Amino acid sequence: MAELQPDYSGFFRYPEARIAALAAELGRLDPSMPLLGAEAPAELERLSRDYSDYSPVLVERLRGCRAQLVASASSLEQVRLVAGACARHGIALTVRGAGTGNYGQCVPLQGGLVLDLCGLDRLRHVDAATGVIEVEAGSLMGGLNQQLEPLGRALRLVPSTARSATIGGFIAGGSGGIGSLRWGFLRDPGNLLGLEVVTVEPEPRLLRLDAAASTPLNHAYGTNGILTALRLPTTELVAWQQLVVGFDSWDRALAAAQALLGTAFQLQALTLLAAPIAQQLPWPGGCPAPLAAEQRLLLLAAPDALEVLPAWLAALGGQIHWQAPQGGSRGLPLRELSWNHTTLHWRARNPDWTYLQMLLPQPEAPCLDLLRERWGDDLLWHLEAVRQQGGARLAALPLLRWRGEEALERLMADCRQAGAVIFNPHVISVEDGGLGVVDADQVAAKAAHDPAGLLNPGKLGGWLSSPG
Ligand SMILES: Cc1cc2nc3c(=O)[nH]c(=O)nc-3n(C[C@H](O)[C@H](O)[C@H](O)COP(=O)(O)OP(=O)(O)OC[C@H]3O[C@@H](n4cnc5c(N)ncnc54)[C@H](O)[C@@H]3O)c2cc1C
Repeated sequence: MAELQPDYSGFFRYPEARIAALAAELGRLDPSMPLLGAEAPAELERLSRDYSDYSPVLVERLRGCRAQLVASASSLEQVRLVAGACARHGIALTVRGAGTGNYGQCVPLQGGLVLDLCGLDRLRHVDAATGVIEVEAGSLMGGLNQQLEPLGRALRLVPSTARSATIGGFIAGGSGGIGSLRWGFLRDPGNLLGLEVVTVEPEPRLLRLDAAASTPLNHAYGTNGILTALRLPTTELVAWQQLVVGFDSWDRALAAAQALLGTAFQLQALTLLAAPIAQQLPWPGGCPAPLAAEQRLLLLAAPDALEVLPAWLAALGGQIHWQAPQGGSRGLPLRELSWNHTTLHWRARNPDWTYLQMLLPQPEAPCLDLLRERWGDDLLWHLEAVRQQGGARLAALPLLRWRGEEALERLMADCRQAGAVIFNPHVISVEDGGLGVVDADQVAAKAAHDPAGLLNPGKLGGWLSSPG
């Protein structure tokens, strides 16, 4: 740290001479690898950003954090060259996929080098008997699903950003999304079978980790190893049907969502949107705009559910307004109105709003009623169904009118008091965004794979506080 220099914004940066020496070595080792430095400030800025601007808190904290060098690797050998050179020069290395994370996960807090892995994007192998795939970390999930489709397979879980985000970034920085109702969260045992990892050492090692050894690198923000390939289970391809269901009251819509969790209808996703949110979303082509007080339930349902589902929903007060096969509709797919896409669309019209993430207690209604009473129109409800520890539950990503950090703290205290478990999206460390506890295995993996602590510095709280 002593050798780092503060820049104009107060953040620490490496002296330019050290960055130039690193760039010169990389250029010598592989002249074909794209490198961007001080001559391309706009690109350095772009490749240092993600979607953390959802959080006014993070916007302030991350202001001025910028890479000093960006390398784009498209082969394992290039990843090893970059890892080895950063280790020999003692310069921080932050890995980047598509940069769609929401918590500043790929923003380099100390400058240094950003390694863009989008070029490492081959589907290496599909096991015809089991459907298990081995895929390179920079592969986009939408493209991956297109490659799997002719084989009758699909990824179990994708974020709503599947079209633009990488599978390596999802495992390192994401948590769940479309498919979480069936398959739970990414860290649930069985969702990640193995990893290929490059260490950050003067002579980097290429490791192949089994499922157990991979667990500490799952959702560690790329702080304890560079993921170059992943082994993942896939699931059978289902021709999901997109359904938009309207309800004239929140209570009826919530009751229907809860009841759906106890049925045998095969669902891939269930999103419930309060009327003010539904009013402002860009609905797919052919889908009527909602009426003023209409709450909307969005479903991805298996075709065999459709014989019974319409009448079942009607009995609970729900009316299907629109239906189309996934992949066969105009405009945005329903997937891109759910999870943090809901927040994206809302903020496009209401930039002074932010959001929160939580798992709701069961039953949900008392907690929601209390918060609705206390926070009124400042808090708008967006729920997603998930499977957690084997049971179906409702999570929430409510939209929040921004009234400052003190109000945010008060809201989180109210949510906890009402029994919700908060996953705070306004913090930068792995631990603070999770359950707030240090995972000793994550820290041990960092010691083993990144002994000098160069990978994405500042994001693993357990490493910062460890005695060594
Ligand atoms: C509109 C919107 C909707 C979203 N919806 C969801 C959702 O439904 N579910 C969800 O979980 N998230 C969601 N996100 C967050 C984000 O899109 C996903 O987590 C996504 O999978 C991240 O992939 P990425 O390629 O953009 O990763 P990046 O943002 O580039 O990186 C994420 C983290 O992973 C690390 N990383 C990336 N690649 C590697 C690698 N090869 N090795 C080691 N570390 C690596 C980075 O350093 C960083 O810490 C959403 C974001 C937005 C903006």
